[in-house]
Amino acid sequence: MRLVGLTGSIGSGKSTVAQRLRELGVLVLDADEYAREGAAVLKAEICRAFPEACRGDELDRAALARRVFNDPEARKQLEALLHPYVRRRMHEETEKAKAKGHQLVVHDIPLLFETGREGDFAGVLVVAAPNELRMARVMARSGLSKDEFTARDQSQMPQEEKVRRATWVIWNDADLQALRARVDAWYREVVK
Ligand code: ATP
Repeated sequence: MRLVGLTGSIGSGKSTVAQRLRELGVLVLDADEYAREGAAVLKAEICRAFPEACRGDELDRAALARRVFNDPEARKQLEALLHPYVRRRMHEETEKAKAKGHQLVVHDIPLLFETGREGDFAGVLVVAAPNELRMARVMARSGLSKDEFTARDQSQMPQEEKVRRATWVIWNDADLQALRARVDAWYREVVK
């Protein structure tokens, strides 16, 4: 079985690529999904560490994200709680896939390079798009302002550095049909 990492900057088209890969029958495990699961499972610990992000028994993930965004120490503390959970769950699911005979498993991890995970994979697929296009797509989708987009984007590794470290790059600089065709071509190349 080949284990491949999927990443890219905000609004590059990672989720759209992941969706196409699923249509092609690839098992794609989404780190964000396991982080959501982890936040629910570890709610008590998280609320003890960040009471301001909880109301009674309810964890407010948006409040938690705001709380750690500009506070590196708090972010580290949250990551120390969540990341081991996410890694363990993705590892478990990958082992199950291996046992079932899957040829290719993809881990979709937005901060793959930032968290030093590249060595875990046979290769890393980076989805990239011109900055202007990424900004326009994210603003259209989420209503984020230009400044909010820029602040989030600048908190990550620059896109050109991700492209430099990539094993494969899919450029998402045209329409969705073109993107699908590029994903299909990549898939044929890696499973041949
Ligand atoms: P994020 O990091 O914010 O989660 P992402 O990298 O997963 O983003 P997507 O969610 O796949 O990116 O794409 C961002 C938005 O741009 C979505 O609304 C998606 O439908 C749209 N989009 C992606 N690629 C294209 C394209 N080639 N043409 C038009 N719209 C696109």
